Amino acid sequence: MYCLKCGKETADKQVFCDHCLGVMSDYPVKADAKVHLPHRTEAATPKKQSRKRPMQPEEQLAAMQQLVRRLLAALIAVTVLFLLTAAGLVYTYKSSEALPTVGRNYTINTGRRP
Ligand SMILES: [Zn+2]
Repeated sequence: MYCLKCGKETADKQVFCDHCLGVMSDYPVKADAKVHLPHRTEAATPKKQSRKRPMQPEEQLAAMQQLVRRLLAALIAVTVLFLLTAAGLVYTYKSSEALPTVGRNYTINTGRRP
């Protein structure tokens, strides 16, 4: 009997293929069947992931420096936005304090200046 997975000859009644450890019942073949495995063509061979060439340490350093610069720029932008928002809130709060409150036991914040 031949293993239909790898094509090597195995003994009859063998459960696993000695060569590829394939389970014989998963690849049923009659005892007299000739097994011929086609050779893989170039196109059928699974291609390895075409990795780019490994980065040199200088390139890695440059990439990391660029990443740090981008992160710093993003951090500065977020900080500026936060400060502008905080300043706007403070200004709104201060201007609403200027509303006359005499005789009122409530406050109205319309978000607009009177
Ligand atoms: Zn096998």
